[in-house]
Amino acid sequence: LEQVDETYVPSEIRPLTSAVNGLLERLNLALDAQRKFIADAAHQLRTPLTAIKLHAEQAFHARDDVAQRAAINELRASADRAVRLSNQLLSLARAEPGEQTARFVSVDLVELAFETGAEWVPRAIARHIDLGFAESNATHSRPAGERMIVNGNPVLLSEVLANLIDNALKYVPPYRVNDGRITIMVSRYFDGTDTPLAELVVEDNGPGVPPAMRAELFKRFFRGDGHGESDGGAGLGLAIVRDIVVLHGGTIHYEDGSGGGSRFVIHLPLAPDQKS
Ligand code: ADP
Repeated sequence: LEQVDETYVPSEIRPLTSAVNGLLERLNLALDAQRKFIADAAHQLRTPLTAIKLHAEQAFHARDDVAQRAAINELRASADRAVRLSNQLLSLARAEPGEQTARFVSVDLVELAFETGAEWVPRAIARHIDLGFAESNATHSRPAGERMIVNGNPVLLSEVLANLIDNALKYVPPYRVNDGRITIMVSRYFDGTDTPLAELVVEDNGPGVPPAMRAELFKRFFRGDGHGESDGGAGLGLAIVRDIVVLHGGTIHYEDGSGGGSRFVIHLPLAPDQKS
């Protein structure tokens, strides 16, 4: 969008045109970011779509049943990746503020963590990884039975947890078989002000994130080195997590986990009647 040329603008309305130009500049930056996002998204979607086309052709020209089945299996996996990616892109669009925040309800993070965590237990067991809950960590604890109520969207908050568990399951490597561990913790966090926050932690004893990567970790389409495109990741999981946390007025950061792996720490404002 073109800015107003201020050369011939009378001085008495200059403040107005300057303000308009400032606004236009911000709009242009936002539009650039949108354009980049769409280009990145289209580029990412092209990978599974090209694979679908390739495998469809392989299936069509297959010499025998075995080759045909193999091609169809690949086709199915690529279609799954395309669906997963488009779901992630939708999540990003949905985490924009607006009507979302108007529909917030009381959510008990303790209950949400148990429910979402439980859904992932079968997958963790299949990978010989111990997925569990801890009542406390090194710095603070949660008295038994205490609830941790925040205002939010339970579906989105559960997606936050699901993404973090999914990553932990993905990146805790095979040599950890039988002693791989993912721990979920919900507690009350005191940041030095009078108002405590709810803290949600997902910790694993995988490889952790190298220091050089940490600044990029929550950016859209950022992926660590060495992950092929074949595992279905597009580097959107943590960007979605961060957007949802921010939508809820919270923060997320990365720390070294106590077992040498990753620790993702989320702080969310407690619902008003929980802040004492
Ligand atoms: P994706 O998993 O699709 O690559 P994410 O945004 O979820 O996208 O993660 C970005 C990158 O952060 C990953 O590619 C990986 O390198 C790193 N990462 C995320 N979670 C973990 C974890 N629990 N342990 C180690 N590395 C992780």
